[in-house]
Amino acid sequence: MASFDVDLFVIGAGSGGVRAARVAAMHGARVMIAEEYRIGGTCVIRGCVPKKLMVYASRYKDHFEDSFGFGWSVSHPTFDWPKLVAAKEKEISRLSSVYRANLAKAGVAIEETRAEVESGHSVRLCATDRSVSAKTILIGTGAAPVLEPDIPGRTYAINSNELFDLPELPKRMLIIGGGYIAVEFASIFARLGTKVSMAVRGENVLRGFDCDMRNGVRDALMQCGVDLNFGVLPIRIEKLDTGYRVTLTKGAPVEADQVLIATGRRPNTKGLGLDKAGVDVDNLGAIKVDAFSKTNVDSIYAVGDVTNRAPLTPVAIREGHAFADTVFGGKPEAVDHSTIPTAVFATPELGCIGLTEEVARARFDCVDIYAANFRPLKATLSGRAEWTHMKIIVDGATDRVLGVHIFGQDAAEMAQLLAIAIKMGATKADFDATMALHPTAAEELVTLRMRTARFLRDAAGPEARDSGPLCAE
Ligand SMILES: Cc1cc2nc3c(=O)[nH]c(=O)nc-3n(C[C@H](O)[C@H](O)[C@H](O)COP(=O)(O)OP(=O)(O)OC[C@H]3O[C@@H](n4cnc5c(N)ncnc54)[C@H](O)[C@@H]3O)c2cc1C
Repeated sequence: MASFDVDLFVIGAGSGGVRAARVAAMHGARVMIAEEYRIGGTCVIRGCVPKKLMVYASRYKDHFEDSFGFGWSVSHPTFDWPKLVAAKEKEISRLSSVYRANLAKAGVAIEETRAEVESGHSVRLCATDRSVSAKTILIGTGAAPVLEPDIPGRTYAINSNELFDLPELPKRMLIIGGGYIAVEFASIFARLGTKVSMAVRGENVLRGFDCDMRNGVRDALMQCGVDLNFGVLPIRIEKLDTGYRVTLTKGAPVEADQVLIATGRRPNTKGLGLDKAGVDVDNLGAIKVDAFSKTNVDSIYAVGDVTNRAPLTPVAIREGHAFADTVFGGKPEAVDHSTIPTAVFATPELGCIGLTEEVARARFDCVDIYAANFRPLKATLSGRAEWTHMKIIVDGATDRVLGVHIFGQDAAEMAQLLAIAIKMGATKADFDATMALHPTAAEELVTLRMRTARFLRDAAGPEARDSGPLCAE
């Protein structure tokens, strides 16, 4: 039998790779992990965590304003961007060292270098040009932002990686893109004091999310002063003495101190040596895997964003854990990607679980909608023109709840808990049988008795509604 330097070599110490390495080592495997940037990966260093810290920072603007209605007086609050960046850096460094310590505690050898695949059982450590043989290789290299479209001057733009450490708060920013990352940064920077414009290819933000929620987010962005330009693409970016000028396919050019391109992320597989081992990738470069995260090469697995299944931290972690249990723990587990709660941390925020109305209506013969739009209690005294939207989508034939979408304060927290009920197959009758907790916004979810609409597929009865396009893309 061939002997290897290690049982498992993990490329990439992000959410998926770290979990897999740690659990495999706890199952008794000899594990080595390589990281080319900082231990912790995108989520900890330049994704979820620093972003959420900035969301908190941005919301103080609203808190200060709202407090007047409750009797408080706050005079001239000011915001210090470098102080926030420094505090954020301290926290992510702390988290990164916790990740490092946990790996070391589990007995995982850490190599701080880029690593590339040489064959089905060999990896090259680029910093030292050393080869390490491994019985199994796990690729957890994540994804990277793309600077697209390929227009003249695009290198003047920054991506989300660079945004977290800008030396100063930009006075004017143009964000190109309308996905969740673009929306979250628009909401953050507009509240911190930047004049934000967005250039979005479609006719609304957040393609793929529920139509009514998209409208809620769009309206909230406008309300906090974001200048939204829909149905446009950038043509060129020019450098000016002060800032940049971006020409769009329609409307006046936009001038800004920073241009953020947030049009998507690509799996990190370029130059990784996958061709040398014969690992199959799709047309975006994502590694193709089976339900157990195994590639077409028996000794090579991949988890997380690099497989482009559901590019979210908890999914990468679950895939990494399932891989380690399957290969080293004798407990095969295929991750269920069917019901994944998601959030958009705009202000207010969006929390979602299950199918959107659009998808439910395309897939089910009878879809019932229960919707509520109301002003949250807090807004009555604060005077803020804020609305909460909630929507429950039900299979009219079985009463099973197919999806719940919430746009309002704490929506992400609600979506996480609702995910348990939806995963368990809860029916609308189960929601109705649940006692309300008063006074909360979430109580609306168990007191929504009146059906708002019923959609019958391919039927022309009195309640049938046209199921044509609901939302402008
Ligand atoms: C701005 C932003 C906000 C986000 N917000 C959220 C959120 O709110 N909630 C959520 O669930 N998800 C969010 N995400 C997505 C989340 O960060 C990713 O889904 C998650 O980090 C994926 O984990 P991963 O292990 O697949 O990859 P990563 O965490 O990206 O880790 C991959 C690691 O591999 C390293 N690497 C790459 N190539 C090599 C190589 N050849 N050799 C050595 N090391 C290598 C990289 O440096 C990186 O550290 C956000 C992402 C971004 C960009």
